[in-house]
Amino acid sequence: METNVSRLLERRKRLLRKLAALKLVVHGSYIERFSTCARKHCACHQGDKHGPRSYVVIYRNAQQRQVYVPQAQVRAVRQGLRQDEQAADLLRKITDINLALMRTGALEASGYEGQEGNKR
Ligand SMILES: [Zn+2]
Repeated sequence: METNVSRLLERRKRLLRKLAALKLVVHGSYIERFSTCARKHCACHQGDKHGPRSYVVIYRNAQQRQVYVPQAQVRAVRQGLRQDEQAADLLRKITDINLALMRTGALEASGYEGQEGNKR
């Protein structure tokens, strides 16, 4: 039992390290579309729209928002969206480990593991 718990803790530590490395993570989805600009007399308002331009679609307070992505940042944002999928996968695995720890009764104490200045 004890070795089972320490194996779970070791696996969780590895997964948390991977999660922390996903620095570019962007939780959303990528779209490209044509758009009009703010200049009143621009040809885009006559149907000759700009684009395709890149956007990230995110949700805040149950509202969809499209955030413009400058061309030079597209590659990093797309990498961030892939990292988002990796993060979701890691969170599923960490959840499974934490539920296994819960069943052994070790979950609560494991929250203090490796935390500085917060030991009993
Ligand atoms: Zn325009």
